[in-house]
Amino acid sequence: MQTEQNTQKIIVIPGDGIGPEVTEEAVLTLQALGAGLEFTFLDRINADRYLRDGVALTDGELEEVRTAGTVLFGAVGDPRVTNPDYARGVLLRLRTDLDLYVNYRPAVLLDERLSPLRDESRRGIDCVVVRENTEGLYTGVGGSLRTGTPDEVTVDQETNTHLGVSRIVEYAYGVARRSVCMVDKSNAVRFGGQLWQRVWRETRDRHPELDSSHLYVDVAAMKLVKDPASFDVIVTNNSYGDILSDLTAELAGGLGTAASANINPVTGMGLYEPVHGSAPDIVGKGLANPAGAVLSAALLLRDRGLKSEAEALERAVRRTVAERRCTPDLGGTLNTRQAGEAIRAALD
Ligand code: ATP
Ligand code: MG
Repeated sequence: MQTEQNTQKIIVIPGDGIGPEVTEEAVLTLQALGAGLEFTFLDRINADRYLRDGVALTDGELEEVRTAGTVLFGAVGDPRVTNPDYARGVLLRLRTDLDLYVNYRPAVLLDERLSPLRDESRRGIDCVVVRENTEGLYTGVGGSLRTGTPDEVTVDQETNTHLGVSRIVEYAYGVARRSVCMVDKSNAVRFGGQLWQRVWRETRDRHPELDSSHLYVDVAAMKLVKDPASFDVIVTNNSYGDILSDLTAELAGGLGTAASANINPVTGMGLYEPVHGSAPDIVGKGLANPAGAVLSAALLLRDRGLKSEAEALERAVRRTVAERRCTPDLGGTLNTRQAGEAIRAALD
């Protein structure tokens, strides 16, 4: 029996689109595991409320999340909302205000037939994109002049701080098993590029036990398609990490299976979400694959010290995919609920 002290509070933000569909399966699966988690649903954080009241995330909600320290997140985004302030006001605000500076995005091939690559290239895909999550090109610093005229000029500034770069590179070296590949575009992006290079060299020299390499982002994209199994940890900035992790997700079986963790390893806070977004084209059709949300829940369990429970979830997902008890994106015929039930039935 779980004791009072073992109960861990989890905030659930299902969000928009397929977010609520896949998050429900993740929560049911965590409940089936009986890991002693207590869930508080913040299901009012969504596009409906934003359209009605203009509210993305309240200060009170942010504090509730801060107090709990752990969030299971679905997705934000809705075709009716064109103002980027909404998504920025929810997800980017949670990432920055809680200083969740690591975006940890593993790509593990669940089943060989899921990869779009040829036999010899897909074997052994097991890498992680460690994406800097609080600065870079996504801080919203910049502006526009003569907006809406043929003479319009826009600037989006990329911010890189010594603290921001050193803590993400150090984190990458801390979680690597074999190697770290630092990815930048320092041949074209001058100032930030030099900072990343300098910090990476210093960190590399402190970790002679690991193989270190560097690639420009264009070459990294090419090499990921050609020889993905050669990568272990890839560390990079916010925007390159965003793009390369969609690539690694697809190489490893598709966006529907990709999991991620937004974490602050110092405070222990974490927000766990599938890599995919709200996928408006498949909402309400039962086509949403719950695997990415369930595997994100497994990352949550791992960070909460529940390693054997995390492994049980991962095994269950792998088993259902191998037996094709899964959604159509993975070659199955099940709907979202049935795929979630199959995962729960496969728990040992
Ligand atoms: P957002 O702006 O919220 O990111 P999006 O339109 O970019 O939404 P994504 O969620 O990023 O959509 O996904 C891109 C496409 O991949 C979707 O349109 C959908 O067809 C497919 N997809 C995404 N997630 C899943 C899933 N869990 N199961 C099945 N297919 C998915
Ligand atoms: Mg998207």
